[in-house]
Amino acid sequence: KRKGRNLVHCYTDDDQDSGELQLSLQWSHQLQEAIVNDQITLHFQPIVKVSNGEVAYFEALVRLQLEDRLVYPGEFIPALERAEDINLLDHQVISKAIAMMHQYPELHKVAINLSAQAFSDARLLPLIKQKLEQYQVDATRIIFELTESASLSNIQATRLMIESLTQLGCEFSIDDFGTGFSTFSYLKQLPAHSIKIDGSFVREMDVDQIDYALVKSIAEIARVLNRKSVAEFVENERILDLLKELGVDYAQGYHISKPMDIENLKKYILETTT
Ligand code: C2E
Ligand code: MG
Ligand code: MG
Ligand code: MG
Repeated sequence: KRKGRNLVHCYTDDDQDSGELQLSLQWSHQLQEAIVNDQITLHFQPIVKVSNGEVAYFEALVRLQLEDRLVYPGEFIPALERAEDINLLDHQVISKAIAMMHQYPELHKVAINLSAQAFSDARLLPLIKQKLEQYQVDATRIIFELTESASLSNIQATRLMIESLTQLGCEFSIDDFGTGFSTFSYLKQLPAHSIKIDGSFVREMDVDQIDYALVKSIAEIARVLNRKSVAEFVENERILDLLKELGVDYAQGYHISKPMDIENLKKYILETTT
């Protein structure tokens, strides 16, 4: 039916399309259940200032807490995107994150990931406004992360959305930078506060000269464009030192801290601030 009417499609055992469709439908169903059963949870990972190690903000990362296991987004986000149900997840994450920012003032500033489809979702902006109002959360406490490819697929809609949210006071960050196809003119146009250097360049920059040079170049581009730079996948002290030398502004990764549930995050904050 998805392929149009009056079509006959022969399914074979190894029909990949039907397998993927099946999986997407399963995850869509799972998402509905998770919403009803309140199984959507957010973990938070600190992002620190490279210059002094202070926590600057936290990235919210979604997980599904099923009866028997915790499911990571790599498993269900691609399926939800195919099923065109990803907007529903975005709505849930935004509502949850803002409610938690109200409940836990420790979450002084939070980065929320948006899917590629978020920028053509007319319900998103009203929802954000409504939640900020309902929970009395200041818009300046929120950073939205969007991937390079997301922002590229519909630059006009993306710009409009970013402009509206920026007017409210929210910040923007371009996620996984370096994996898409942005041009400089395009990058110049987007009013993003920061650029997140993709982890694939950072993770081995201490041993791979090309990765090192790429991180250095992206940090330089960010500086030229007057944007902050953020490095993800900081997995050891040596990388943190290199980032400091290169003047990268913020760092995130397992070496600093893994993502945590709110209870562990509260402990982490107590330990790091006293
Ligand atoms: P991302 O936004 O680039 O998030 C960073 C991912 O890298 C997270 O995986 C995080 O746990 C992981 N990570 C952090 N530090 C390290 C490190 O030092 N080494 C390694 N190897 N990995 C590290 P996670 O939570 O599995 O999320 C994967 C992706 O799923 C995210 O990539 C983001 O694109 C998407 N995602 C996560 N939460 C949401 C959400 O609420 N909404 C939407 N639309 N997408 C989300
Ligand atoms: Mg992100
Ligand atoms: Mg990222
Ligand atoms: Mg990434």
